[in-house]
Amino acid sequence: MQGASKEMSAFDIAQAQIDAVGKRLGLDPGLLEILKRPNRELTVNFPVKMDDGSIRAFTGFRVQYNQVLGPFKGGIRYHPDVTLEEVRALAAWMTWKCAVIGLPFGGAKGGVICNPKEMSPGELERLTRRFTSEISIIIGPQKDIPAPDVYTDAQVMAWLMDTYSMNEGYSVPGVVTGKPLVIGGSKGREEATSRGVMYTTREAAENLDIDLSKSTIAVQGYGNVGYNAARLFQEELGSRIIAVSDSRGGIYNPKGLDPGKVRLHKAKTGSVVEFPGSDLVTNEEVLEMECDVLVPAALEGAITSSNAPQVKADIVAEGANGPTTPEADQILFKRGITLVPDILCNAGGVTVSYFEWVQSLQHFFWSFEEVKRRLEDVIVKAFDGVWRTAQEEKVDMRTAAYIVAMKKVVDAYKIRGIYP
Ligand code: NAD
Repeated sequence: MQGASKEMSAFDIAQAQIDAVGKRLGLDPGLLEILKRPNRELTVNFPVKMDDGSIRAFTGFRVQYNQVLGPFKGGIRYHPDVTLEEVRALAAWMTWKCAVIGLPFGGAKGGVICNPKEMSPGELERLTRRFTSEISIIIGPQKDIPAPDVYTDAQVMAWLMDTYSMNEGYSVPGVVTGKPLVIGGSKGREEATSRGVMYTTREAAENLDIDLSKSTIAVQGYGNVGYNAARLFQEELGSRIIAVSDSRGGIYNPKGLDPGKVRLHKAKTGSVVEFPGSDLVTNEEVLEMECDVLVPAALEGAITSSNAPQVKADIVAEGANGPTTPEADQILFKRGITLVPDILCNAGGVTVSYFEWVQSLQHFFWSFEEVKRRLEDVIVKAFDGVWRTAQEEKVDMRTAAYIVAMKKVVDAYKIRGIYP
């Protein structure tokens, strides 16, 4: 994508991406303008009783970006740095993600400004229940279906589902995905995003003649996406995980790290750092590491114009949303590095969320094998479509993914017509 500067916010980036492809597709300027704006935004300020008896004010957001392809869908993030602008960008990316995969969903995202690391389980539960009540006027199983994102998990989704259900007066499992299995979650949801990262990277590697069983992998971020990606690359493809990091720093072992043991160490100590037998490296060093595949799986803006020239991987697989700036995109593309873009690479999560929603609505549940088979089928087909478009149009994979996604959304507008 062209014309972006270093100082762009995540939403500036999301808009620049839409603009560039919209112009390429020759879209009607009015339609292009609507694609660059969220449909609806809700900001809520609400009180939570803390364990010490004090009352604290919190702010949360739910942005419903576009619903032309179906109900809104997107995760909820708990983080001290969440902003409305960031949530807006994430909601835009959800729109293109669902479209590129061919899911019958629009895009949304939510967030609460808070630091879950400093909150007790009771405080987190009260925050989640109150936030759910605040946004319940716009969510629902046919309207807008949240899911986990950074620092939210299956437990948070269970509280959300329970709160919504209590207000409705009956159980509504379809209101949220990423739930625990016992209340209608789907087998395979927890690792689904990473499974999608693994499948898309495998397809890219096949096309590039890279043997992943002999490859080295570096992973930035060691949460749900990062850990499961590391595990699946090792378990299912035989790759060697040589470096991983989290918010406190990184670890490196050229002979390979055991993803499960690193996870246990993080669970015990709060971080991957000081994992026995590994060397300490910085987060920056992980991104610039000599490796075959780099998986950014933390937050936005990890790969920028300043470190993109030093990236040594052949494939960058975007487990995170928005980890690469448009300037860095250009640099990587010119350097011949294949970047599998977020809206395709990490779409395994929303795909199994879609499966979970279908199962929740039908109250009929699938085996893990069936979930994996269907996921692989959906992701590989989407990958092939984007890869083909990139070859035909002679563009990077991100531009190709946006071409595929935006065409679908625009077709839906055309056939539905502009109300009234
Ligand atoms: P998570 O909360 O489980 O993990 C986040 C990880 O990132 C943690 O290990 C944290 O320590 C680390 N981190 C935070 N700041 C960092 C930094 N500056 N450097 C290195 N590591 C840092 O979150 P997650 O669900 O794994 O999400 C990670 C990314 O994947 C986000 O961009 C999210 O939007 C995206 N994503 C998640 C899903 C999903 O299903 N969970 C789906 C699609 C995309």
